[in-house]
Amino acid sequence: MKIIPLVAAGIAVLTGGTAPAQAQFVWPTAGVIGSSYWTDRGSFYHKAIDINGSYGTKVVASYAGKILLRGRYSACEYYGNLVAVRHGGGYDTYYAHNSRFASGYVGQSVGQNQIIAYMGQTGNAASVHVHFEVRRWNARIYSYACQIYVPGYRGMRVYAGQKINYSFPGLTGGTTTSSLQARKVTSTDLNVRSGPGTGYSILGQAHQGQIYIRTAVSGDWSKIWFDGRTGWVSSAYTVSAAGAAARKVTASLANVRTGPSTAYAIIASAHQGEIYGHILTSNGWAKIWFKGRTGWVRGDLVVPVAVD
Ligand SMILES: [Zn+2]
Repeated sequence: MKIIPLVAAGIAVLTGGTAPAQAQFVWPTAGVIGSSYWTDRGSFYHKAIDINGSYGTKVVASYAGKILLRGRYSACEYYGNLVAVRHGGGYDTYYAHNSRFASGYVGQSVGQNQIIAYMGQTGNAASVHVHFEVRRWNARIYSYACQIYVPGYRGMRVYAGQKINYSFPGLTGGTTTSSLQARKVTSTDLNVRSGPGTGYSILGQAHQGQIYIRTAVSGDWSKIWFDGRTGWVSSAYTVSAAGAAARKVTASLANVRTGPSTAYAIIASAHQGEIYGHILTSNGWAKIWFKGRTGWVRGDLVVPVAVD
């Protein structure tokens, strides 16, 4: 198994000149796409994505918004237990066939990645799956008029929180969970410089496969957290590392140790608001990338933070 090093990221303070993160839907659950958009069902075209998975798998809101529908509706019994979320920009997302609902109510605000239901087979469903629709400019339940295209092909594996690689213009309606983006280095050696251009001095080098948290963009250059400080790399030699995990420190001070218990030596301190790449969790301790090496912090002193 190849372990991809995640280098420590620092305080997520975004300053002037930061490119705003584009609002983005994420896949609402983990599984394999069984039916893509525009599958011929004989009497109609399936203008949605079906994601096959395990009974009871969490279903999360694809983007921040307010719960629009939550229940079982006789006018469209085929949806079974349905949740719909209204976002800004005229967008609604529908999640059908759920086994049960997470706590919540119509009108409640939900954040992106917040659990809203659990996968099932209620309504007209031949298998356990989530029927996921994106609609625009449509307030009605029963209408195929406004279901818009969502990418994805049969057999494609997706997971909850994974960014849907497609642009939905005008999507708004809540704060995204993060304006940070994880970037993976694609060149063997990549110079990290003190500013956004080759005229700036070289601080160090990043290497192929390493993942950094990007906090700002200037032209073709990305500002990344690099060994506890910031530096700039040419964006052309990095790609999005969607799905990379990160943890934000919530305590004013968190000891970083050589192993997953207080018996291990303290090698450094992490501070409130700092964000680190997360490798794994063991016995309530989180293993993180910390200033170019790995270390362990108490799991209750950090929280997951979404990076695009
Ligand atoms: Zn479907």
